[in-house]
Amino acid sequence: MTSPVWHPFTQHGLGAPIPMVVRTDGAALHTADGRRVVDAISSWWVTTHGHRHPRIMAAIADQAARMDQIIFAGWTHEPAEVLAARLVAILPPALTRVFYSDSGSTAVEVALKMALGYWTNIGMPRHRILMLEHSYHGDTIGTMSVGARGVFNRAYAPLLFDVGLVPFPEPGREQVTLDTLDALCGGGDPAAAFIVEPLILGAGGMKVYPPAILAEMRAICARHGTLFIADEVMTGWGRTGTLLACEQADVVPDILCLSKGLTGGAIPLAVTLATDALFDAHWSTDRATMFFHSSSYTANPIACAAAVANLDIWHDEPVLARVTDLGRRQQARLDRIAAHPAIANPRRLGTIAAFELIDRGGRPDGYLSAIGPALMAHAGARDILLRPLGDSVYIMPPYCIDDADLDAIYAAVADFLDARAIA
Ligand code: PMP
Repeated sequence: MTSPVWHPFTQHGLGAPIPMVVRTDGAALHTADGRRVVDAISSWWVTTHGHRHPRIMAAIADQAARMDQIIFAGWTHEPAEVLAARLVAILPPALTRVFYSDSGSTAVEVALKMALGYWTNIGMPRHRILMLEHSYHGDTIGTMSVGARGVFNRAYAPLLFDVGLVPFPEPGREQVTLDTLDALCGGGDPAAAFIVEPLILGAGGMKVYPPAILAEMRAICARHGTLFIADEVMTGWGRTGTLLACEQADVVPDILCLSKGLTGGAIPLAVTLATDALFDAHWSTDRATMFFHSSSYTANPIACAAAVANLDIWHDEPVLARVTDLGRRQQARLDRIAAHPAIANPRRLGTIAAFELIDRGGRPDGYLSAIGPALMAHAGARDILLRPLGDSVYIMPPYCIDDADLDAIYAAVADFLDARAIA
């Protein structure tokens, strides 16, 4: 019998087999047919330390023995209180308020609603949101609206709201980015907020831009009062070499979105942090100005306990040293394939290595080209989980990956490149 499961971002009509995973550990997935597969993409960027870190698993088991979901409107619980206090203690001091949700998309939806609520409640309504070209912030209607338009959201285009588009800071064209942002922030219809993925645009193809540009974009927003929303759903928790990517530019946003590595990637949870100004704009004795957002699973206690254990790991273990070391080991291997004629633009930021595959005419292959699935199948046959974004290939393993597994990933990539250069 065929499975009734409808998988995400999967064309079932192609009939590709869907492996059954029965166990995870460290940098590996184990399948029902006995394969050990190296997770070269941290299971869609969520797994930071490694699968099933013992302290996170223990915290989940311990919390599950005491309390499951409770309503979070007007009620609270210790894991949520401890987690919020500890997040505020380690994140930039201006971010004083923690709002819980359950995915990266909802963290971004919350950020957008907080921003619009702010402007409405202070009696100076601003509505327009600005986004950076090639961005991705999620797959809900609101987050698709502030993300790149393309084949993935064509069917829903009539429902997406209008946003101001700031060109990506391509090398040599950074001033265009800054001038456009400046013009869109100000003028007769000033922008409510600008949302960005700091330093690297993930789903847009692992496109990297310099910290100095991030800092300048933040300064322009500050000048115009436009709220600056940092979506660190992918970049947070060490991915780019620091706890937050914003740190590398000395940027403190007005609103910060975190998810994925918040629980070490073990269980869904997200937070949207905000400054006092955002919170105060909603604070009143008038119920009409409260923040009208919730979801059933807000601040799930088991997920919050997992996140507290993640913070313990960050406190007690040399996580940043592991991140630095993984970056160095990625760079050494990337350097060995960097000059290959089948790749372009090799780059690395923190633990993330990326490059484009080019066709024999020296051009990138395009988003729906067959090359991504071909590399995925090639790697899969060698027990490596890779999932290129169109012609952009990236390697983003959990921090615990050892040299043998990292070598296996690069060996699979290298012989794919060789086959492509020869064919
Ligand atoms: N923002 C960014 C930068 C992301 O990379 C993602 C997910 N890849 C999201 C938001 C959405 O997160 P989720 O899939 O958990 O809704």
